Amino acid sequence: MTFQEQFTYETRPVRVVFRPGAAVTATPDEAARLGLRRLLVVCGSRGEPVARAVADALGDRCVGVHAEARMHVPVEDADRAVAAVRAAGADGCVAVGGGSAIGLGKAIALRTGLPLIAVPSTYSGSEMTPVWGLTEHGAKRTGRDPVVQPRSVVYDPRLTLSLPLPLTVTSGINALAHAVEALYAPDVSPLVTVMAEEGVRAMTEALPRLAADPGDLDARGRALYAAWLCGACLGTTTMGLHHKLCHVLGGTYGLPHAETHTVVLPHALAHNAPAAPQALTVLSRALGGIGDVPRALWDLAGRLGAPRSLAELGLAKADVTPAAARAAGEPYANPREVTAEGARGVLLAAYEGGPPSTA
Ligand code: NAD
Repeated sequence: MTFQEQFTYETRPVRVVFRPGAAVTATPDEAARLGLRRLLVVCGSRGEPVARAVADALGDRCVGVHAEARMHVPVEDADRAVAAVRAAGADGCVAVGGGSAIGLGKAIALRTGLPLIAVPSTYSGSEMTPVWGLTEHGAKRTGRDPVVQPRSVVYDPRLTLSLPLPLTVTSGINALAHAVEALYAPDVSPLVTVMAEEGVRAMTEALPRLAADPGDLDARGRALYAAWLCGACLGTTTMGLHHKLCHVLGGTYGLPHAETHTVVLPHALAHNAPAAPQALTVLSRALGGIGDVPRALWDLAGRLGAPRSLAELGLAKADVTPAAARAAGEPYANPREVTAEGARGVLLAAYEGGPPSTA
């Protein structure tokens, strides 16, 4: 970026605490700082033991554990969670888990205005954004509202030790997708560029270390640090074609979130690359000077054993064209003009899973 260019940068106050063990040792202090005395802890069913440990640490400040978070926040789940909040007389929520648990916490905040504390256990980055999502009648709606942005985020690398290696890899690449699209967003700014470059560098260093030893706490910390940076990029910029395609594939076709991001990213980036040379320069630097960045991301996913095709994830070939039409159906920012044909090309390449083509 040259300083003849202009930019705006907006961020909202959020307190970040980052240390091993913080889920249990720091969450009660964060609740006290915010003056919260009646917190409902929300989590998914698999994350319930960890959430209960956080609830125990909160002691009298906890009024219950609601372990019903599921992916993409079905609207009926949000209804039930809001009813649970009201029944318990909660004055805030603590979301413990991945993007699904945090998404349910955000849905509660959206409906009730209650403050949210996030204790993330994946690399989804949702905790750093004012973006909410709700799924109804087979379609995922998303929006931005400052009320859903967590007031306090407690990063505890130890929580991620139990993250299975396949989800470690795909969730890490989900974080990379936030940095990639931030770099060519219309509202990219110098600080976002720095965060995105450092986030990509840290995540792509950490993931191979975690593939070799998923119990490496230092690499877990580095990946979570990267997730923070990439999530912060997502929180302050407007996402493009890649995120839109993944929303459609998740919300309408039920594909798993992190895996879908992993498969689509190299192809979406290859499609946008000709119109985003500055982003490619930054990404190349973050990856150690590599020339073909989309190919490098595709290679990385393959080396780490991640899925490479939408066919593997269960998409039917017949769904490619309607999914592309849906993703291209409304105007949004992207370095290349979004057309149904262009989106179809990206989805078809991702469906087949071969190396990305920048041609
Ligand atoms: P997830 O939260 O659904 O978690 C995936 C699975 O991993 C779940 O079964 C969960 O119980 C389990 N899990 C989570 N952490 C674990 C841990 N440490 N150890 C063992 N198991 C663990 O998946 P996700 O990819 O984190 O989040 C996906 C959801 O988040 C989607 O709905 C997506 O749309 C949303 N999201 C929203 C934003 C935003 O800014 N609003 C950003 C990213 C993702």
